[in-house]
Formats: sequence, structure tokens, C-alpha cells
Amino acid sequence: MSEETIFTRIIEGEIPSYTIYEDETTYAFLDANPLAPGHTLVIPKEPYERLNDMPPDVIGDVFSTAGKIADAVEEATDATATTLAINNGEDAGQEVPHAHLHIVPQSSEGGPKS
Ligand code: 5GP
Repeated sequence: MSEETIFTRIIEGEIPSYTIYEDETTYAFLDANPLAPGHTLVIPKEPYERLNDMPPDVIGDVFSTAGKIADAVEEATDATATTLAINNGEDAGQEVPHAHLHIVPQSSEGGPKS
């Protein structure tokens, strides 16, 4: 597990973010460089580096949070769908070594809303 990441600092309020949702084990906030308005990241509060490192119950918690907020993310952005994605490891494009699930609102035209 990573000791401290930029995302643990966000959870602790040391770095400002726009919080979407929080519970005992997960945290969701707006991405600072969104692919589309409303682009949200869902993370486990414990700084597991990759999905592979996460216990099944925590993986369940992250997806449960995604399921809870997907409707709200769509409604807030007039999206009709969302893409859920994980860059699972550096060679897959993971830049922050704290596992995270991207929720990207999509438009009816088929691309990210912009
Ligand atoms: P990755 O490439 O690791 O899958 O995605 C990392 C995401 O974290 C990127 O989309 C990036 O914009 C976002 N990000 C990086 N640093 C910060 C930050 O300090 N605040 C917020 N809200 N998002 C960040």
C-alpha cells in the first residue's frame, strides 16, 4: 500500500477538491483535469496502489459508490451515460499511485460532453 499520495492529501483536506460523495471507505471528487464536465474520481480511502492490491470488499465499496453517484453525475451534466474506467498500473496510464475509478459523463452524440 502507498504511504501517502496526492489523493490521501485530498481526503484529509490538505489539497482542495470538490467532494461529490464520502462514506467510511470511499471518497469521490471532481477530476482537476476533466475529460468532460463532471468527470469524477472514486477512490478507496486506504491508499491501495492498484486494483490488484485491493481486497474484494473494498473493490465492492468503490463500485457501490460509483453506482450510487452515477445517476447524479449524469443529471448534473445532462449526460445520458457514463464511461467507467481504471488505468490499472503505470504502463496503462496510471499517473497517481492510489487506485481510482474514473466516471466520465457521455453525451448522446457518443463522445465525452464538453
Ligand atoms: P490516472 O491517469 O492516474 O488514471 O488519472 C489520474 C487523474 O487524477 C487525472 O485525471 C488527473 O487529472 C487527476 N488528478 C491529478 N492530481 C489531481 C489533484 O490534485 N486534484 C484532482 N481533483 N484531480 C487530480
